[in-house]
Amino acid sequence: MAFSLLKPRFLSPGAAAAAPGLARQLSAHLRGEVLFDAGSRGRYATDASIYQCMPLGVAVPRDQDDLLVALQIAREARVPVVARGAGTSQCGQTVGEGLVIDNSRWLNGLVELDVQARTAVVEPGIVLDHLNAQLKPHGLWFPVDVSTSAQCTLGGMAGNNSCGSRSIAYGNMVHNVLGIDAVLADGTQAHFGPWDGCLPEAPRLRGLVQGLHAVAQRERGEIAERMPQVLRRVAGYNIDLFDCRNPRPYTDDGVPNLSHILVGSEGTLAYSRRIKIKLAPLPRAKVLGVVNFPTFYQSMDMTQHIVKLGPVAVELVDRTMIDLSLRNPAFRPVIERALVGEPQAVLLVEFAGDDGAALSAQLRALQDLMGELGLPGSVVAMEDAAAQKALWDVRKAGLNIMMSMRGDGKPVSFIEDCAVPLEHLAEYTAQLTEVFHRHGTEGTWYAHASVGTLHVRPILDMRRDGAAKMRAIAQEAAELVRRYKGAYSGEHGDGLCRGEWVAWQYGPRINQAFREIKALFDPDNLYCPDRIVDPPAMDDARLFRFAPGYRTIAIQPVLDWSAWDVRRDPLTGAETAPGTGGDPALGLGKAVEMCNNNGHCRKFDAGTMCPSYRITRDEKHVTRGRANTLRLALSGQLGEGGLLRPEVKEALDLCVSCKGCKRDCPTGVDMAKMKIEARAAWASRDGLRWRDRLVAFLPRYAGRLAPWAGLLHAAQSLPGAGWAKRRLGLAPARSLPRFARPFLRQAGLQQAACGPAGQQDKEVLLFVDTFNNHMEPENAAAARRVLEAAGYRVHLNLAPDGRGLCCGRTFLAAGLVEQARAEARRALDALLPFVERGVAVVGLEPSCLLTLRDEFLHYGYGEQAEQLARASFLFEEFLVREQRAGRLEVAWQAVPHARALVHGHCHQKAFDALRPVQTVLGWVPGLKVDMIESSCCGMAGSFGYEAEHFEASMKMAELSLLPAVRADAQALVVADGTSCRHQIHDGAGRQALHVARVLAMALPESGRQAGAGQPR
Ligand SMILES: Cc1cc2nc3c(=O)[nH]c(=O)nc-3n(C[C@H](O)[C@H](O)[C@H](O)COP(=O)(O)OP(=O)(O)OC[C@H]3O[C@@H](n4cnc5c(N)ncnc54)[C@H](O)[C@@H]3O)c2cc1C
Ligand code: SF4
Ligand code: SF4
Repeated sequence: MAFSLLKPRFLSPGAAAAAPGLARQLSAHLRGEVLFDAGSRGRYATDASIYQCMPLGVAVPRDQDDLLVALQIAREARVPVVARGAGTSQCGQTVGEGLVIDNSRWLNGLVELDVQARTAVVEPGIVLDHLNAQLKPHGLWFPVDVSTSAQCTLGGMAGNNSCGSRSIAYGNMVHNVLGIDAVLADGTQAHFGPWDGCLPEAPRLRGLVQGLHAVAQRERGEIAERMPQVLRRVAGYNIDLFDCRNPRPYTDDGVPNLSHILVGSEGTLAYSRRIKIKLAPLPRAKVLGVVNFPTFYQSMDMTQHIVKLGPVAVELVDRTMIDLSLRNPAFRPVIERALVGEPQAVLLVEFAGDDGAALSAQLRALQDLMGELGLPGSVVAMEDAAAQKALWDVRKAGLNIMMSMRGDGKPVSFIEDCAVPLEHLAEYTAQLTEVFHRHGTEGTWYAHASVGTLHVRPILDMRRDGAAKMRAIAQEAAELVRRYKGAYSGEHGDGLCRGEWVAWQYGPRINQAFREIKALFDPDNLYCPDRIVDPPAMDDARLFRFAPGYRTIAIQPVLDWSAWDVRRDPLTGAETAPGTGGDPALGLGKAVEMCNNNGHCRKFDAGTMCPSYRITRDEKHVTRGRANTLRLALSGQLGEGGLLRPEVKEALDLCVSCKGCKRDCPTGVDMAKMKIEARAAWASRDGLRWRDRLVAFLPRYAGRLAPWAGLLHAAQSLPGAGWAKRRLGLAPARSLPRFARPFLRQAGLQQAACGPAGQQDKEVLLFVDTFNNHMEPENAAAARRVLEAAGYRVHLNLAPDGRGLCCGRTFLAAGLVEQARAEARRALDALLPFVERGVAVVGLEPSCLLTLRDEFLHYGYGEQAEQLARASFLFEEFLVREQRAGRLEVAWQAVPHARALVHGHCHQKAFDALRPVQTVLGWVPGLKVDMIESSCCGMAGSFGYEAEHFEASMKMAELSLLPAVRADAQALVVADGTSCRHQIHDGAGRQALHVARVLAMALPESGRQAGAGQPR
């Protein structure tokens, strides 16, 4: 199959031909972004579903007026409009071939807040977590707590009638939306809210309400007959709004609310501009009981009894999910705390309220109940809020954890939110599992047991026989749902995937009623066509992201990606050997395809990912946008050129290689590593600019600059300095690093004399990187003093040629992978003899030392690289390890500061190596240690020096790091990264210290003297 971005497959020829005019009109009249280039269209062609549809273009309105202009221009061009929030829908709701309008970048305000009435009015693009952060000081929250809360928008939630983990207590979106200001497809603006039975005066709205009411009244009998009575039913339109069929009434006062016809309509009826919502008081306390079950069946069977205790959530995590979580370093300790033995499933049972004693009693009641049901001792009680949050985060990441499976077979979403009454849950899940097995696949179960909505995704290979199996399984699942009087779509909506099942679920009469409703609202079918009413077949391969025939182009990557190039048996989970997956891009293609578009990289909370998105809110500058661009480029969908495509360069431009995604992306998309591939391709085609050479070869020439250090520094304040920087492509406002007498040159000469006699069993190799050697030798000296004071004989990383060993990072940053590989070889040769006799390699600069644990493993040096990686530690990691082993005894003294503010280097965070900094600083008596909740400092090696990136660099720093530093002028600022210290100096005028220097200050008097003859 030929893949082309430019050919719409479903649009009428007229609409498709309108594209150039549409782009011109929008560009002329919109203040927001108008994106009609192939890269942007490709980035908006997918959501978290299996589908891909190329839009004609994308508009990102600046404000409400801009939105109206965009809608008007699209209407006049008769081009369909697809409303989009974060694009996290799982059924293809936000992919379509018309004009995609993205609300998330600018239309994201909290418009009104009425604390007394507990209501708020929001714009559609506001992210749920951002809203809740603004509500928290008022003791309120919006309680539809969907798993994607960190990125999903209220407009999208209303569009999908989203449901949270605590829906048993708070209901779904439809229970929490009070009104919507919307624009109809013909441009009519209207408020949809409570309806007192009177018809509006304006003829258009009068006809609309009259027609809607008439259709609903006409079908009352059919609605009562066909609409399943379960809380979670989100398919089709809420035609029962006048006569509610949901076990939980849609409104508190029983008055019908016209906005409820729009909730769950997936953008097909009207465009929401503002949404009025109902808020809930934040519960003062919560307790969590984790129930461990020996069999999956028991967990399902006993849910019906557990819900009678009045929990606000009962959520399932099954064995596969437990195992996958245990494999993730961030999740492992969290999930381990929740387990009793080796359960086949656990249920997270939460009780919430204001009375802590009552909650503890409920928890005891849960323990008693499990005893009565034959499972005494199966409940792990968690009353600590931090532990609860950590476990909920694992549960929320459930789907993403599952998607981290490698190979072409992926868990596919199409029957994953059927809702069945609780008494049938055990039988339903058992029978559906049998269906999977009959089709040679397996599914992992998780999520909302409390309301009978369990997520399950059978593993299918959509490039091969996936589509056929999908249909067969869907049909059998549908029969089961019908048998148990359940709802086929209980959470994630219809979209492209379940649209055809709407008619199946409700029958022809109600389906016809839906068609009439669509015609009343949008007679010209301009809003999200092909959804809910007359949708395409779910298995129309023209709509697939990975259709049969999808292939990546053949390329030879410079790094080893073979670990991704595997096949996986869906039933046993067994993977073939690395490099056997058949990827013509030798694993790079499959690594890129790991992105499932869930949008978690759009989050703003703790963690690093993704600093460039945090400052731009631009889909191009987020990990997902980059992964999509790479996928399109590597599969030839952008044209010839692969990694050399301009779209790739643009998308990677602001990626600071912070490795935030390597850790925070649930499927482990490692964009920093992918950027090395791209840079290598660019370097081999274009060569290097002077500026890149200066950075790349720094380790080679830095030693020669020492004698000129003073002169170089003075030259920075001369009149032509700014001009010279500009000529080199450097930002004039950026200070340049200061060079000094290299630590290794001085220390190396005296190496034979170092280390206290008689303690030679305690040896360590201090890996002094280029930056701490040539620019801040005082850090290396401090580290050496600390290690020697603790009784270690300190070896240094001098190679036989007298040049310090190097991790090769500066070469990687320029795409000179062969040079980096050569540095790695040199380091391995010099360090392995130490490693083999058990000497730890200890480094100071996170980006350098952690290269030994990361990129060194991808050069093809096999076990040697593994060996070195296992023996390499950051300075503070090493100290913590030694202290735990009882080998570190230092009588730390107080320092002249009461508080330390710590900024972690991104790579420290990516390797979960920041806690040791906190630990070792905690050894200093009287020092209060506070971590700055920051993402990347923005300096990121050479990024912050570059003229075109200076502004972005400073914006990243201003997000939280610099304000935190400025807020406490007395605190000691601690940062292990050279770049971070530089940024703090330039941005806040403060000198941050490496942790080694703080510890050196805290040494007893005798230790502070040690190494006094060494370079400072
Ligand atoms: C890992 C993962 C976990 C998930 N967990 C949950 C969960 O727990 N519960 C749940 O319910 N869902 C869940 N979802 C599905 C999805 O995240 C939610 O439905 C979410 O609320 C969608 O928000 P969004 O901003 O991404 O909307 P989008 O996907 O961008 O849009 C959703 C729909 O709303 C329409 N829309 C958006 N804005 C407007 C507007 N202004 N006017 C009219 N229509 C509009 C769109 O056209 C589309 O039809 C999950 C998805 C993923 C990937
Ligand atoms: S890059 Fe990772 S976090 Fe972002 S959408 Fe893709 S899978 Fe999700
Ligand atoms: S490496 Fe950092 S900047 Fe680049 S995509 Fe990942 S999180 Fe974003």
